Order: sequence, then structure tokens, then C-alpha cells
Amino acid sequence: MTESRNCRTLCESADVVVLGAGPAGLVLGNLLVAAGIDCVVLERADRSHIQTRARAGFLAPNTVRVLDRHGLAEGIHRHGRTHGTCEFRTAEGRFRLDYAALGRGEQHTVYPQQNLVTDLLARYLDAGGRIRFGTEALAVHDADGAAPYVTTREPDGRPARWDARYVAGCDGRHGAARRSLPPGAVRHRHDYGVSWLGLLAEAPPSLDAVGYAVHDRGFAGHMARSPQITRYYLQCGRGLPADAWSEERIWDELDLRMRAADHGPLHRGPIIERCVVDLACDVVDSLRHGSLLLAGDAASLTAPAAAKGANLAVLEAELLAGALAEALAQGNGAALDRYSTQCLAYIWRAQEFTQWMTGLLHAIPGQDPDEGSFFHGSLRRARLDSLRTSRAHQDWFAENYVGV
Ligand code: FAD
Repeated sequence: MTESRNCRTLCESADVVVLGAGPAGLVLGNLLVAAGIDCVVLERADRSHIQTRARAGFLAPNTVRVLDRHGLAEGIHRHGRTHGTCEFRTAEGRFRLDYAALGRGEQHTVYPQQNLVTDLLARYLDAGGRIRFGTEALAVHDADGAAPYVTTREPDGRPARWDARYVAGCDGRHGAARRSLPPGAVRHRHDYGVSWLGLLAEAPPSLDAVGYAVHDRGFAGHMARSPQITRYYLQCGRGLPADAWSEERIWDELDLRMRAADHGPLHRGPIIERCVVDLACDVVDSLRHGSLLLAGDAASLTAPAAAKGANLAVLEAELLAGALAEALAQGNGAALDRYSTQCLAYIWRAQEFTQWMTGLLHAIPGQDPDEGSFFHGSLRRARLDSLRTSRAHQDWFAENYVGV
């Protein structure tokens, strides 16, 4: 880092400064380095934190194709497991959809997000990519002007700045990119009013399918992560602290909602991680504000019901890498405007399916004055019945469930 005449603080520069080393930032970093573009990734957390942060696990086939195209899917092919069945449990019984044999005949690959991040980071460093851990982006400045830059707090607390031609905001929903949007930037937001207790259990999966339980007490979900680790979700009241329920209460509640008495016991084990997720979504429109481009959760947040977030992040990163390469080569931003338009179309498709899925699995508070009402409960039952019996509906579901 140098002290320049024009800079009162420590200064560095890169053609593209990428904020955040999640799936979006690291896919983008890899593709920029492969294209010979001068870039740096600035990450607030340390390396071990990002390599152990458990979040997504279900990768769409298109996500794997994108990563394959750029030689980034080796770990996925070596350790990921394909998955193509989900099971719905309701008061009327249970039914399975073998979605790998429906729609376009595609399936998910189960590969924990922290493993994907670990792989992407290793590839980025091997290729000579620059990354700064423990470096928090504070704000993006002059995105509409001729000399954009990012102010940061260095690991030792000192202020610094990075001059850039473009800044890629891949730093999630609470990052500096969103905070730096101009006052007129549009953010479409919807809050479902529903929350989930997200749990990781050190216990083998209890069924060989994704499990969705629709219950009067609220939704419960089951998703395999590995032969030893299972993710569960429990719908809970808004504002519930993550540690409010004892492990025993959690397992009893899962047993009840997953109807273990009818369909077989759940494998219990220690709860090794818990968080509360408020189901909300938003879309920033446009994804381009001058030299600042958004991708991943920074661009749009999807409620987790349909597992689209990490998949959109990877897709957007690939599109953004191409657009940045074109913009840098041609000296104008037309490709970046196209990037925004193209991604917004994918994002709204994902939001639409997520909304459908969220409505399928929950009673949405405030949806009807007569909350948890007979009317909406009956609509949900009709939807589930249609999904159970209509091949056309099942094909539609399968295509959207694995697609981005
Ligand atoms: P992130 O992964 O959030 O990465 C952003 C990075 O930016 C982080 O490393 C953060 O430390 C860094 N950062 C933040 N602020 C700053 C700053 N100011 N300066 C520098 N760095 C900063 N999606 C799916 O597709 N399938 C699933 O099954 C699924 N399950 C989920 C389960 C849970 C419990 C949660 C919470 C999410 C889940 N998601 C799922 C969503 C998915 O994890 C996100 O959509 C995905 O992580 C988005 O990737 P990203 O790179 O945009 O952002």
C-alpha cells in the first residue's frame, strides 16, 4: 500500500474492486483473473470464518454447469451427491415427487456452501488472485463520477481507500454496496411476516428426500447436508431468539410437525448451529449504478423456501464477469446495462417461484383478516392436492424447483 499525493489515506488500486468473498464474489474473482483483468477481493471476515459458514447446500444443475464451464466444479463432482426427490407431509398423509424424473429431468447436487467457498478461494489464490481478509468496505464513493473508489477499514483499524474503474458489490444484504446506493435507487421489498429457526444437527438425514411438513403448528423442513449433518427448519414466531428453545423442545416440535409417529422417527443428535431467518425478499433495480454493480444477495434477497439465493449468486457472477470484461475492453458500459436487465429477469422468475413455494408451505400472517383462516388453509390444501395428482403441475414444479 502506498501514500499517494492525491490520497490522504493509504491507497491502492485495481481495475475491479470486488466487495465480499461469498459465492458471488469468489466466482466473479476467479473469472476476472482467468480473463486477465486486474482485480482484488475485499472481505470483512477472516478466511476460516468464510470457509466454515454453513448456509446453502442445494445447487441447481445450471449452477453446476456454470462452474463446470470455468473449471470450478471439481470438488462438487468429487464430493457432491445428486438429489432428486422431495416429500410433502400434511394432515392428509404424505406424497413424494421424484422431480429428477419430471420437468426437464434435472436434479440438485448437494454440496455445502462452505465447501464451495473453500474450493473457489483455493482456485482463486492458485491463479494468483488478490484478496484482503479482515478488510471492511465502508462505502463506495463517486460511483457516478470519473474516479470511483472504496473506503475501507484495514485489519489493524487504519482507514484506507481503493481506487477502481468498477466496483462489484457482492457483499450481501447488509454490505457497503447497498449502503452506498444513491438516494433514488429503487428497492422492491416484501416481508412474508414468517420466520424460521434454521438448525444444523449433527445427525444423519432422517429421510432420503427433502422433507416439507405443512402443519397447523407451522412449517417444518428437512434437508440432508452430508451423511452426518442434517439441516432442519422450524417456522417460529417473529422475534423469537435463536436460543429460546431447548434441544429437547426442538426435536419434539420436529417430531410433531414432521409427523414422526406416522412416518418414522427422526434421527436425533446435537444441534450444532442455529439462527433465525425472517422470510423476506427484495430486489434492487437497477443492478448498475454508474461504476457500482451488484450481484448475489446484494442485488436481491430471496426467502429460503425455494433455495434460490446461492444459485442466483453464481449465475449473476458469471454474467457480471462477461459484462465487465466487455466494458473494460470497449471503454463503455452498455454491457453493464444489459447485465442488469438480464439478471433482473432471472431474479423475478426466482422471486415468483419462491413466493409460490412460501405460500404453499405456510399460513402467511395478515394474508386474511381471519388469520390461519379456513379460506387460505383450503387454498393451500388444494394446491398440495393439485401437486400430488396433476402431472402437468408436477412438471411445472420440477422445472422451477431446480431451475434458476
Ligand atoms: P454472501 O454469501 O452473504 O457473501 C457476502 C460476503 O461479503 C461475506 O463473506 C461477508 O462477510 C462479506 N461482507 C459483508 N459486508 C462486507 C463489507 N462491508 N466489506 C467487505 N466484505 C463484506 N441459497 C440457496 O441457493 N440454497 C439453499 O439451500 C440456501 N440455504 C440457506 C440457508 C440459510 C440458513 C441462509 C442464511 C441462506 C441460505 N441460502 C440458500 C442463501 C445463500 O446462502 C445466499 O443467497 C448466498 O450466500 C449469497 O451469496 P453472496 O456471495 O451474494 O453473499
